[in-house]
Amino acid sequence: MPGNLSFDALKQKAAAGEIDTVVVAMVDMQGRLVGKRFHVDNFLASAHEETHCCNYLLTVDIDMEPVPGFEAASWDKGYGDFTIVPDMATLRLVPWLPGTVLVLCDVTDHHHHPMPHSPRQILKAQVDRLAAKGMKPFMASELEFYLFDETYETAAAKGFVNLATTNPYIEDYGILATTKVEGVMRAMRNGLNACGIPVENSKGEWGPGQEEMNVRYAEAVAMADDHTVMKNGMKEIAHLHGKAITFMAKYAYNLAGSSCHVHQSLWSEDGTPLFLDADAPHGMSKLMRSYVAGLLTHSREITLFLAPYINSYKRFQQVGTFAPTKAVWSHDNRTAGFRLVGNGSKAIRIECRMGGADLNPYLAYAAMLAAGLAGIEQGLELEDAFTGDAYGSTGVREIPKTLREAIDTARGSAMLRDAFGEKVLAHYIHAAEWEQYEYDRRITDWELKRGFERS
Ligand code: ADP
Repeated sequence: MPGNLSFDALKQKAAAGEIDTVVVAMVDMQGRLVGKRFHVDNFLASAHEETHCCNYLLTVDIDMEPVPGFEAASWDKGYGDFTIVPDMATLRLVPWLPGTVLVLCDVTDHHHHPMPHSPRQILKAQVDRLAAKGMKPFMASELEFYLFDETYETAAAKGFVNLATTNPYIEDYGILATTKVEGVMRAMRNGLNACGIPVENSKGEWGPGQEEMNVRYAEAVAMADDHTVMKNGMKEIAHLHGKAITFMAKYAYNLAGSSCHVHQSLWSEDGTPLFLDADAPHGMSKLMRSYVAGLLTHSREITLFLAPYINSYKRFQQVGTFAPTKAVWSHDNRTAGFRLVGNGSKAIRIECRMGGADLNPYLAYAAMLAAGLAGIEQGLELEDAFTGDAYGSTGVREIPKTLREAIDTARGSAMLRDAFGEKVLAHYIHAAEWEQYEYDRRITDWELKRGFERS
């Protein structure tokens, strides 16, 4: 891709005065970019080797509150530093910011040993487990979001209610409606493409002001990197156009939620699609059937990593919103949690529709790969495809409907404990328990409206 840069190319651009700033960033537990901006001279001289950040960055909540009770870092341990090491393969132009490039980092201790609870490391560990079996995972995130004729400041001033969406009616696949926001959407597509992220298309979605951005599938870590840079970049580009954008799973009770569907397939090192067996039923190989069986069997355990916040579960409450409520698989059926796509061709893949646009892609991909791999290792048999309207079905696997239920299910998961390690799983359970605790003690606008006068 034109946006990807080598270290030598960066040197040349710096010498030519084209680049002066290097964003050096790691990914936090929420899937956000955090780090520092370097002058390019300093980056080329030394910071390309490593820099340091406070180790609380992997123990804070979305509000940057230092959450008590983590083993990895705490006030007791003095919140020291960890090291972040640029992965030069991720160096890329940021065309919407003048003179700027960005590089993603791995989080390590001071001897460059990976921090096991860093999201990028958690995903790499699962990719390594697959590599040991000669398999390479490919993923694609489809990110939905709402765009507003507001800035983040005006939205906050309104208390995030009665916000002006960029379009007043449902604009699913709408060309006229999306033409109205083409200024910002074109800047996003072209900006991301020129940042090394191969954009396929953007399209209107099933909400007023709601759109989706589709990019080309890639190897799992590269796709999680693209997802993260893309989400951050889209917020920046929206801001530069005087708009606000949200990736909340459900920002309004009466409107469709925003999902992050994830397409996934496994390939051999030499590029053979391991999910394809043209002669088998539905063109699915035995390996694919076991992978999907693993996803289904463990779907309730991994929901925490597909829906990490209190708000994430609001997507699963209503039927008939295109957000799934049942963890079943189906042929090209959008009422089910998992959808078989491209069957019988090289593009055969399984789409997980459970995740919200608020998920951390590294953790979500890692959890799904761990579940699929467990299915392969145990040679699980795939249940029959679901047919019909999954919303109305009874007696089938339910997606957890609350964060509390998802935490309890993940906590008891031997599969996750084996795949992530005891300490890493405990770290993320603790983060989720804090999210639940923060919510449980707050008073919401809904309670006030109902109870202030009448209770
Ligand atoms: P749909 O609109 O039916 O969800 P698309 O044809 O738009 O599906 O493709 C969705 C995503 O799937 C795209 O990001 C595409 O790059 C990705 N994709 C295509 N083939 C594969 C594959 N073999 N493995 C993983 N993702 C894939």
